Amino acid sequence: MGKIVQLDEHLSNKIAAGEVVERPASVVKELVENSIDANASRIEIEIEEGGLSLIRVLDNGDGIEEDDCVLAFNRHATSKIKSEHDLIQIRTMGFRGEALPSIASVSQVELKSSTGDRPGTYLFIENGIIKKQQQTNSRKGTDLTVRNLFYNTPARLKHVKTIQTELGTITDLVNRLALANPNVSFRLKHNGKELLQTSGNGNVQQIIAAVYGIQTAKNMLPVSFSSLDYEVTGYISKPETNRASRQYISLFMNGRYIKNYALSKAVQNAYHTFLPIGRFPIAVLSVKMDPTIIDVNVHPSKHEARLSKETELVHLVENELRKVIKAVQLIPEVHIPKKEKKQKETGRQSSFSFEYTQKKQYIEPYRVPDTFEHQTTLSDHQAVGIQETVQVNGIMDTFPDTALEKVVEEREEKSIESESQPQSNNQEKLPVLYPIGQMHGTYILAQNENGLYLIDQHAAQERIKYEYFREKVGMVERELQLLTVPYTFEYTTNEAAFIHDHLEFLSQVGLFLEPFGQNTFIVREHPQWFPKGYEKETIMDIIQQVLDHRKIDIEKLREEAAIMMSCKGSIKANHHLRNDEIFALLETLRESEDPYTCPHGRPITIHLSTYELEKMFKRVM
Ligand code: ADP
Ligand code: MG
Repeated sequence: MGKIVQLDEHLSNKIAAGEVVERPASVVKELVENSIDANASRIEIEIEEGGLSLIRVLDNGDGIEEDDCVLAFNRHATSKIKSEHDLIQIRTMGFRGEALPSIASVSQVELKSSTGDRPGTYLFIENGIIKKQQQTNSRKGTDLTVRNLFYNTPARLKHVKTIQTELGTITDLVNRLALANPNVSFRLKHNGKELLQTSGNGNVQQIIAAVYGIQTAKNMLPVSFSSLDYEVTGYISKPETNRASRQYISLFMNGRYIKNYALSKAVQNAYHTFLPIGRFPIAVLSVKMDPTIIDVNVHPSKHEARLSKETELVHLVENELRKVIKAVQLIPEVHIPKKEKKQKETGRQSSFSFEYTQKKQYIEPYRVPDTFEHQTTLSDHQAVGIQETVQVNGIMDTFPDTALEKVVEEREEKSIESESQPQSNNQEKLPVLYPIGQMHGTYILAQNENGLYLIDQHAAQERIKYEYFREKVGMVERELQLLTVPYTFEYTTNEAAFIHDHLEFLSQVGLFLEPFGQNTFIVREHPQWFPKGYEKETIMDIIQQVLDHRKIDIEKLREEAAIMMSCKGSIKANHHLRNDEIFALLETLRESEDPYTCPHGRPITIHLSTYELEKMFKRVM
């Protein structure tokens, strides 16, 4: 007799649950996506104990008819596709018909649903079996409660992390669902405490404010562009607002949150040289396309997708975002936080009497629904909730994200408006500046009618040189400097073999190596524009680039070589500059293509407006 048996439905559901219901957040995802598919305009999510004791999703969507309520808990029962043909053009979030039976097999489920025109249906399901079924009221929509998740799968329960971690994942998920669906009002509560609320009025920037904080939202630039196949809209952060993780790049494809490495990389590439190494932008991009060019049936939880024209989209996104980033005035502004806000930030109280006198200020942060600032995920808190770090060489340290002074508020309000048309205000990248002097041999002080400017002289010169070298390494002209004594370079056999194969390639950036014995190469001449005094070092460094990267393409190598050369011999800190030298430097900087950041992405200029100064000196209130 054969050994194979057909598993019963209950067991198959439990097996499927292993994939679909990995953790509490997966349940939230499936339920909320069902509500979205049911055309809900309001979705309320209640969580208790990180989702382990309770997950409840309430919507005002289409509701489920009585017969369908029972069917919905059968495996592969769905109202969203009917035939194989539908599978290649999916317009709903769900289609596999697996979620409800899977969830019901590992928890206790209560369902109340009504289509609004008839009495509703109530079901209680335990261990995948319907234990109770009766009529209920006819409020249109669906109310689904999942209790004691994984109570009958101890191994899975062990896998669940701490309540805080699970809650963090849920919040992160709901944040993204809210960002992906600006026309749906979301509300998330944990143990009775509200963590997120969005209005559903379609304004993505407001949702960004709710999720990442108001200050961040104000530092976002709107984007909107399209190609024949794709339509992209959303917001990306100005370079000065950045994070230490890629996590803040959210990509939505046809309304679905998708993790796509190539596209996320395209967003990062758009910021190349505008952000320091290891810093990442915040981005919320929604890509719309014909459902036939995206395959979402790649993964049971559908957070990956295959695109048939991915390269086209990658290029489109990188190029268009780069244009937007280049088009904005990129000088970070100094915002001086109020004293009391600093206290709020550290949250320290030094003594009882102090607490009394400071009481008003101290309570404030809790009383003001400090708008959504405190409602980001717990994991977000470290990075986005409390403060914004501006990457500036030692001039400024940190500015509280929450220090929402009226002035800043009003001004930024205006700038939000003007940012809607970033193209309009970029005629002049850097204003004309008049030198005042130099500080610590490192920073140039300059002024104009708009206030005070601090310029990092090293960063400024690096930018100027970078642009010069980038142009030079891109040209093929052979204006060569003959060396009286040739340079010799020695490499391991392995390296030498590789260099040997790339001699032609290296000549395209001005390196003319001649093999000289087994492992040695000599250079007799080099382009005249190589950084003076650093010629040999430059050649060695470029060769090293090629050895390190192996598969580097010529454009990338030119770019790297230009960055490297720009560092060599740029005026370092602690170098005195005369006023005419300062003037010349500022003028050249003004002419450069991107006068805002050095090639490593650090800012060059900081602006302290006249108004800020007057505020600091209490000349204005
Ligand atoms: P899928 O979403 O892949 O179709 P599910 O198991 O998640 O599978 O849901 C099964 C069916 O139950 C859905 O196709 C839908 O018809 C119905 N359903 C589930 N949740 C809701 C809801 N909140 N509102 C209306 N219908 C729902
Ligand atoms: Mg579903």
